Amino acid sequence: MARKFFVGGNWKCNGTSEEVKKIVSTLNGGQVASADVVDVVVSPPFVFLPLVKSLLRSDFHVAAQNCWVKKGGAYTGEISAEMLLNLNIPWVILGHSERRLLLGESNEFVGDKVAYALSKGLKVIACVGETLEQRESGATVEVVAAQTKAIAERISDWTNVVLAYEPVWAIGTGKVATPAQAQEVHCELRKWLQINVSVEVAESTRIIYGGSVNGANCKELAAQPDVDGFLVGGASLKPEFVDIINSAT
Ligand code: PEP
Repeated sequence: MARKFFVGGNWKCNGTSEEVKKIVSTLNGGQVASADVVDVVVSPPFVFLPLVKSLLRSDFHVAAQNCWVKKGGAYTGEISAEMLLNLNIPWVILGHSERRLLLGESNEFVGDKVAYALSKGLKVIACVGETLEQRESGATVEVVAAQTKAIAERISDWTNVVLAYEPVWAIGTGKVATPAQAQEVHCELRKWLQINVSVEVAESTRIIYGGSVNGANCKELAAQPDVDGFLVGGASLKPEFVDIINSAT
């Protein structure tokens, strides 16, 4: 089964309204393949979501960078899945390593968030990835499998999930995984899905790579058989994001 290429842009905690408008204007002027060929989803900070949504070309979509683990209420500072749906935000990024490591989000908590967001109708970019220490100790596959298991145990339908493999040592460091390193882990993740979920889910779930992807390295990574797209941080704020969108075509 052909998996549609997927490119996400994670703008993280960056930008002013003026800067955001400039990025959107660059994206709106970009020549890219049609939405039948590539899904493009950009993820501005919460406060800019309505602005970006109102200005962004209609073939691109928006994602939030997080949402709360259950129905909203007395959770100061949090944003609920219901609020995102109320604003017609279709996607959310969950389990980003910056939240896992800086804010202490556990595998179980991320799994609960993914399950709740999906149950409300959001589509989820679920992030997994190992630290440098874990890679060097040979634990990469074990770590990403445990992160994926915590999600798999809590959901029954993977249709609206994109799995993002983002090695922590490659995020924001300029130290991109080699195409072979990315392919190896993507292939292991797909095998894990095949054994532990189903052949159909393994075949159809997009597994995208994130970690220092840019306009220069994207083509070779995109050519790997199990790399179905990218989650891009730093380069998603720059015009080269358009080249990354076009990397598979
Ligand atoms: C990310 O934050 O998801 C990411 C991949 O960042 P960068 O592309 O800057 O490494």
